[in-house]
Amino acid sequence: MSSAQERARELAREMKKAIMEAKTAEARAKRLGDEVLLALAEAKKEQEAASEIIEYPVGRYECKRCGQGSIFSQTYRELPACDNCGSTEYVGAEPTITKITPPPPKKYHAGMYECSGCRTRIVLPEDMDELPPCDICGGHKLKAV
Ligand SMILES: [Zn+2]
Ligand SMILES: [Zn+2]
Repeated sequence: MSSAQERARELAREMKKAIMEAKTAEARAKRLGDEVLLALAEAKKEQEAASEIIEYPVGRYECKRCGQGSIFSQTYRELPACDNCGSTEYVGAEPTITKITPPPPKKYHAGMYECSGCRTRIVLPEDMDELPPCDICGGHKLKAV
């Protein structure tokens, strides 16, 4: 076999390997993309949950399950478990609920974007007022997907 033939075989093998690797990387990127969307949805829920603060006032509470009385001398976001039975449900003062006004919305929402220059997908992990440039081509043409 000529050395050129030898080289061609070698290159063909390399190419095949590179294609396989690219396929694996692509599948991985897709899976990560799905995961990131789930994480973003969760982050949004967390943000919504953080929009109110529940606070139980100082005072006397009675355990709903066993009836044991407890005096809480500090305010709680979540009442501690009953000393007697471990229950966290009490009869007593109503908690005060403070609504937190969310910060003004940003121009761009967290999510998946695509570069209209090179078609690379980019994840914006949080809301931003300005979109970052494309990771691959540096262009400023990201569009929400
Ligand atoms: Zn109890
Ligand atoms: Zn690009």
